[in-house]
Amino acid sequence: MVNETLATLIRLQALDSTLSKLEKEIAEVPKQIEALRRQAEQSTQRVAKVQAEVQQMEKERRNLELELEGNETQISKYRNQLLQVKTNKEYSALQLEIDTLKSKNAMIEERILYLLDEIEMRKKEVARVSKEVAAEQEKIKKFTQDKEADKARLEEELIRIQKEKQTLLEALSDKSLVQEYTRLLRVRGGIAVAAVENGICTGCHVSLTPQMFAEVKTREKLLRCPTCLRFLYSAK
Ligand SMILES: [Zn+2]
Repeated sequence: MVNETLATLIRLQALDSTLSKLEKEIAEVPKQIEALRRQAEQSTQRVAKVQAEVQQMEKERRNLELELEGNETQISKYRNQLLQVKTNKEYSALQLEIDTLKSKNAMIEERILYLLDEIEMRKKEVARVSKEVAAEQEKIKKFTQDKEADKARLEEELIRIQKEKQTLLEALSDKSLVQEYTRLLRVRGGIAVAAVENGICTGCHVSLTPQMFAEVKTREKLLRCPTCLRFLYSAK
């Protein structure tokens, strides 16, 4: 005759192992969603950084264009003055001012061309990464929906198993046994009822005596591993 209490404990252990697995899976869901969000956040930050660079360069470009215009105005003034000067010395001095401004403007123009190139490159990057961000957002949305649905399903399963567990616990008349089972579950890594395979307790990997192994196989008695104190049953 199979010991009924043992049969209940075996079933309880199966339920508790499933519960622990479900709890882990449920706890994983927000972490998985968060990991994907963090990944997308990097792209969003990249876009913001490059956009800020573009703004900075546009500002520099505008300032340089103003400077260029100012210099051009100044050059025209000097040129008008050239027509009125009386001495060679004055003429040379003005000519020198004009040449200095011209070479300044040449440098400014070069810098503006460089900035235009850089701005264009960055604008292309912003467009490309923005597209990636949009695709990632879409992916996150879908992933989150799927995962939330998974989670809801797992939670339903969890409640169903908890109910079954509760029914089994209530059916056990020996409340000290319930306490002991619960204690073992806590202190023995979630395994209170261990299978015995080839005479070895799978809970702690210690060999049982042949006599004890023979007794475990009958499933007629509630036996405990002498080493880890887990309840034992023969898997085969
Ligand atoms: Zn053991």
